[in-house]
Parts: sequence; C-alpha cells; structure tokens
Amino acid sequence: MTLDLETAARERGIKYFLVSYTDLFGTQRAKLVPAAAIKGTCKNGAGFAGFATWLDMSPADADLLAMPDPDGLIQLPWKPEVGWLPADLVMDGKPVEQGPRNILKRLIKDAARDGLQMKTGVECEFFLITPCGSEPADLADKQMKPCYDQSALMRRYDVITEICDAMLSLGWKPYQNDHEDANGQFEMNWDYDDALVTADRHAFFKYMTRSIAEKHGLRATFMPKPFMELTGSGCHAHVSVWRDGENIFADRSDEIGMSQAGYHFIGGLIHSADALAAITNPCVNSYKRINAPRTTSGATWAPNTVTYTGNNRTHMIRIPDGGRFEFRLADGAANPYLLQAGILAAGLDGMRNRRDPGKRLDINMYTDGHTVEGVKQLPLNMLDAMRALDRCDVLNDAFGAFVPSYLKLKQDEWNAYCRHLTQWERDNTLDC
Ligand code: ADP
Ligand code: MG
Ligand code: MG
Ligand code: MG
Ligand code: MG
Repeated sequence: MTLDLETAARERGIKYFLVSYTDLFGTQRAKLVPAAAIKGTCKNGAGFAGFATWLDMSPADADLLAMPDPDGLIQLPWKPEVGWLPADLVMDGKPVEQGPRNILKRLIKDAARDGLQMKTGVECEFFLITPCGSEPADLADKQMKPCYDQSALMRRYDVITEICDAMLSLGWKPYQNDHEDANGQFEMNWDYDDALVTADRHAFFKYMTRSIAEKHGLRATFMPKPFMELTGSGCHAHVSVWRDGENIFADRSDEIGMSQAGYHFIGGLIHSADALAAITNPCVNSYKRINAPRTTSGATWAPNTVTYTGNNRTHMIRIPDGGRFEFRLADGAANPYLLQAGILAAGLDGMRNRRDPGKRLDINMYTDGHTVEGVKQLPLNMLDAMRALDRCDVLNDAFGAFVPSYLKLKQDEWNAYCRHLTQWERDNTLDC
C-alpha cells in the first residue's frame, strides 16, 4: 500500500516536503511544499516551467508536473522536519518520455516482463574541497599514496560519521567508509538493492553529502576529475540480476562463479559501451578521468578499454566474485537514474541477443594492454561518445525520445566548451 503522506507528516513531524526531480543533466530541482498542501500536490503534481531546466522543452510548453512518489520518501536526517520525495514527470496528462526516472521505471517494467529484477550497489567517490573549489580542504592531506590514510580519514570524522549515521538511521545498511586514492577523496559504502531504490538513494546521497559538507564549512564535489594529477571520482556500479528471488548471475560451476546469463549481460555492456559512455560519463571533464595518464598515486583506477576480467581493477568490467560484476566506467557526474537505465538497457539487450563478451583478459591493462590485439578503446572525448550514442540502435530503442533531446542539449554544451580558449592552446600555438 502506498504511504499516506499527510499521516506520515503528522506521525514523523514532517513540516515540509521537498518534491524533487532530476533533470537530464542530473541536477535536482524541487518545490518545497508545506505538509498541509501535500495531498493536493500528490493529486495534481507540483508545477514547473520545463524549459527552465535541462529537459529539452520550450518556453511555450504547458506546465511540467512533478508527481511525488510517496514510496520514495526520505526524511532529511540533518533536518527531520523536511521529507524528500522523488517525483515523476508528467506533461499534458502523459509521462515525459525523456524524464530520467520515467525511463528507468519503464525499463524496470520491461525486465519484469521477462521475470527479471536488477539489483545494484553504487560507490560514489567524492572530494571534500575548499568552498571556492580550488583545492582539497585538508592541507595536511599530502601523501603520494593517500588511499586508506587513517589520519586524513579521522580528521574528517565529524563529516563522515554524520553522513554514515544518517544512512544507518535510514536503514540503508552502510558498512564502511574510507579515504580514497586522491588527496581529499572519500568513499562511503552501503548495501545494494533494487535498481530504482539504489537510484533514489544515489540521488539523495549526493544531495545529503553536499548539504552535510556545507554544514561543516566544506564543499563536496563528485566532479569526475577535479585535479588533473590526482585520481578522479568514479561511480562504480555492482550488478546482479534476479528471478523469483534467486540471483541468476551466480553459477558455482563457472571458473569465477559467473553464469551464462551474466556473461551475456556483460556482452551487452561491451556491445554498447562507447554509446553508454555518453550517459555514464556525461561531461567534457569525464574524459579526463578515463584514458588518463598515470596519477601521482601510481594508477588512475579508471578504465581505458572495453574489456572485462576477473578480480582485477584495470578493466572496464571486473568480476570480483561469483554472482555479480562491477562496472567501473561510470563517474561521479553520472545521472543516478540514467546510469541504472543505461546498464539495464544494454544488459537486457545482451541477455536477449545472447551477446558474446569475448575473451576474459587477466592482464594488467595499464601496462600490458598493447600485448593484446583488437582491444577496443573507450571514447576519447564527449563528442566521440555522443556520436556513438547517436548511432547506437540498442540505446535508441530503449531510451526513445530521450536520445535526440539529450544529444541536442549535449551538442550545445560541447559547442560552448569549444568556444573556450585554453592556456594550453596559447602556450603551444602562439609560435606556430
Ligand atoms: P569495491 O571497492 O571492492 O569495488 P565496495 O565494497 O566499495 O567494493 O562496493 C561494493 C558494492 O557492491 C556495494 O554497494 C555492495 O552492496 C554491492 N554488492 C555486493 N554484492 C552485490 C550483488 N550480488 N549485486 C549487486 N551489488 C552487490
Ligand atoms: Mg510562478
Ligand atoms: Mg569501493
Ligand atoms: Mg573507490
Ligand atoms: Mg569499486
């Protein structure tokens, strides 16, 4: 039964609801609705001018309505009088086809028709930086190999534990927090769940981390590569597919515990990888994380190639143990809903068309990639990825009207980037 929000407000002391949707570029947009008005908002939606956000709409369009999903309610642990509600977009009485949460829900339904449920966990790496954004906030965080740095982690104890306590109270089952491979970089892990639940939590996690960091006078960023010489922020997704409560990716008879269905799903991701990158690595800056030169810590930990492997962190896909794989391509800028939708669309295509992922490569891809012939490189920049998405039948079929809308907005972004004159160009071209 769907939760009655008026009752929930009374029982939990919620005074305001934040009716929130995520646009194509991953930005969360909201209206703050007093509890006394939430019944009307549930019936009629919260109204927005779609053109004012990244949705590819026109100023002449009718009202864009955000219909809150009461099942997604999350009470802000740092401000419990506010309840966050993820919302689905409707216009002229119809679901908005390019709405990211709508797309994910559509694909989840599509998988359910085959009796399948995707469950995922995400690892949202982020930096704690100065409010102006110029450098990591902790000036003592200087180690060349800063990963798991105990002292640097403990200097941020107040922020990290406030976020972790919040996740504990929300029942997300967080299980570890650490300092990551770049100075100023952290990761906090919670348990995997249904893809829509994880997408909502992922969206909320980004909002929560930024908000709590701000409270502590810091700024949290999920930007893929904020500092060129340091490891970037990935957003690895761990994936399994279930039927009737059973993980169909698990197969003990396989050498590394992955079933044929799992290999086909991976085959689908490999088949559509370059197009998928336009979604999972959505920014100009995303391509400075993948294909990057070695960082000061010794490795970028990001993939360069469309390859898969066993328990080895130098490929696009890692199979750490039986029954799941890790998709390492996505980065911190990925839209939480489109990330899950992209993986599901490409993976379902792989299962339905029994796509062959090719040979598993057990080599260190960073040092020995050149020893294997025919290995495909990931897109080198956003424009390459956009062109691959434009050509990709699998994602065009699955995402429908989203693709032309997204590519139109992204082309404008690419053009704006190209109009930017860099110091590198001047340094290298003044004397041409
Ligand atoms: P690593 O750093 O080794 O890549 P983490 O512990 O940081 O791994 O993250 C692992 C993520 O994978 C967690 O969100 C975890 O809940 C999730 N996970 C574990 N088992 C499965 C599974 N069967 N299906 C989907 N996700 C899983
Ligand atoms: Mg108005
Ligand atoms: Mg991790
Ligand atoms: Mg990590
Ligand atoms: Mg990982």
